[in-house]
Amino acid sequence: MLYLCVNNNKVFFIMPVDETISNESLVPVPRPLADRVCECGCKNPFQPTRKDQIYLNTQHANYGYNHGKRKEKNKSRSKEEAILAKNDEVLHKHYACERSSTEVVRYYDVLKADGFKFAYNIGRTEKNGDVLWYSYRYYYTIDNIEPKQVKIYKR
Ligand SMILES: [Zn+2]
Repeated sequence: MLYLCVNNNKVFFIMPVDETISNESLVPVPRPLADRVCECGCKNPFQPTRKDQIYLNTQHANYGYNHGKRKEKNKSRSKEEAILAKNDEVLHKHYACERSSTEVVRYYDVLKADGFKFAYNIGRTEKNGDVLWYSYRYYYTIDNIEPKQVKIYKR
């Protein structure tokens, strides 16, 4: 803004000092936080009032919390089910190629190389000192002689 001054018939244009600007530079005003998108999944943008605010409001926070947790649970459960199904498939593949036998012996490392994950089983029992591990359609024992061997049986 310009002020017009008339003084001794001369006209001066004076650029005033903007006090609001100089005040602002003296007192640090917190900069507003950048807009973010609510993490509940609603995709609404909002301006957070705190740095750790990730949801639009309490309702969105509750929704995000509940659904986030449930989603994680389902995700890990289906991952486990996929591994168990794969394990059953591996046992089936090896068992099915020896039709006449009720006991199929395979090297531990061969099954492992086929994608079998020995940490995942649907159950376990003990019989005459042997541990029987279960998949959906089969069960197996592990002989701890080297190289390790696995005996597969149909349930
Ligand atoms: Zn939301």
